[in-house]
Amino acid sequence: MNGDPLSHGLWEKTAPEAPPAPKLSVDVDCDIAIVGAGFTGLSAALHAAQGGATVTVLDGAEIGFGGSGRNVGLVNAGMWTMPEDLPKTLGDTYGQRLLALLGDAPRAVFELVERHKIACEIEPVGTLHCAVNRRGLAELEERERQWRARGAPVRLLDKDEAAAKIGTNAYVGALFDERAGTIQPLAYARGLARAAIAAGARVFSSSPALGCQADGDRWMLRTPRGAVRAKWVLVATNAYTVAPWAELREELTHLPYFNFATVPLDEAARRAILPGRQGCWDTRQILSSFRFDHAGRLVFGSVGALRGTGLPIHRAWARRALAKLFPRLAGIAFDGEWYGMIGMTADHLPRFHRLARNIVSFSGYNGRGIAPGTVFGRCLADLALGTIGEADLPLPVTEPKTAPLRHAAEAFYEVGAQAAHFVGARV
Ligand SMILES: Cc1cc2nc3c(=O)[nH]c(=O)nc-3n(C[C@H](O)[C@H](O)[C@H](O)COP(=O)(O)OP(=O)(O)OC[C@H]3O[C@@H](n4cnc5c(N)ncnc54)[C@H](O)[C@@H]3O)c2cc1C
Repeated sequence: MNGDPLSHGLWEKTAPEAPPAPKLSVDVDCDIAIVGAGFTGLSAALHAAQGGATVTVLDGAEIGFGGSGRNVGLVNAGMWTMPEDLPKTLGDTYGQRLLALLGDAPRAVFELVERHKIACEIEPVGTLHCAVNRRGLAELEERERQWRARGAPVRLLDKDEAAAKIGTNAYVGALFDERAGTIQPLAYARGLARAAIAAGARVFSSSPALGCQADGDRWMLRTPRGAVRAKWVLVATNAYTVAPWAELREELTHLPYFNFATVPLDEAARRAILPGRQGCWDTRQILSSFRFDHAGRLVFGSVGALRGTGLPIHRAWARRALAKLFPRLAGIAFDGEWYGMIGMTADHLPRFHRLARNIVSFSGYNGRGIAPGTVFGRCLADLALGTIGEADLPLPVTEPKTAPLRHAAEAFYEVGAQAAHFVGARV
């Protein structure tokens, strides 16, 4: 996208076409303006339009340009943090509410995909969180205990069971989460946009919101060639925020993450590796992830940015690491390479902000945005439709806080990932 072959890689090659989304070139009046056409904004648009509101979506680039079109496609339940940490950090009311919402969020995604017949390669077959050593296994045991106490269908696999499901002996165990699965993320974003448009929403691309001013009891959003007047503004720009709400960008530390997609594997390799087609990631701090697409390409990723010296270093590492994990893939060609930025918060939990009267946002998904973005978008729509109040949301209202030493931390992640991948053949 935007002439950058490293932005969306395989997903751009294989996603169905985006629905028409012209540049905004006139002035528009509506009930709800949404800034950002990723999972959050598009889910909000779909649900608000279905609720009877007139809706206008603006994206500065294209549908799915941000994290929504670049991610691994693991539709996960919950957050990175341990389940019991949510009530500890947010208090019991919000903690329990958020856990219930996010524990069930993959099902919300899969149901939405079915209902709107979105062609996005869904595989609701679960995910495997793979333990690389005893310490990782102990973490997964604790995670299993905490989720099972809530009745979640998760199960710790021992080394042999994990080897049979994954097709490698590299892991000492894995946590199988039946609630989760994989999708083609850009196809999901484009399908959500199509469904939102079918429900009556208007979606405009190449139409950045440049400014937002009060206009009586409404808001006026200015773009280069047209304006949108609305009672509500839902800001869904998250880690890809460009003005006017720079405070959302400044609250997040950007963690780069890349993916390489192999060419389609032959039948024998597809039977041997991930025969159940679960999506995987491991317990390392500089983690790796892998999953199949529908054509049998293995999408293999880790922390790092594919720019400057990062591109050759991470590409060479991906070849070595893949061959170590699955020796039959030694020397396999890559069919796509891309990277994006994950927005991390200090406590690894997302944020709800009221940026002004009737201007609200969810952001900071910490690499867990497919299912959360979908259900948070629905919450934003419900709030603007008036079917729920702020006190019913899954997160409390907080003020955006600039992340301390954000630029230093971002440089550390990018350079540190290169150093780790330069010296290591570790998977
Ligand atoms: C490489 C990578 C791997 C990931 N892997 C996973 C995964 O496997 N599973 C998972 O659940 N999550 C994953 N994530 C996280 C997930 O992709 C994000 O959390 C999610 O896509 C956020 O969706 P969003 O709609 O909130 O924001 P985004 O998808 O980032 O959309 C924001 C949009 O706002 C637009 N925008 C910004 N400023 C303006 C403006 N002023 N005017 C108009 N438009 C504007 C941007 O162009 C962009 O399209 C990953 C993220 C990355 C980057």
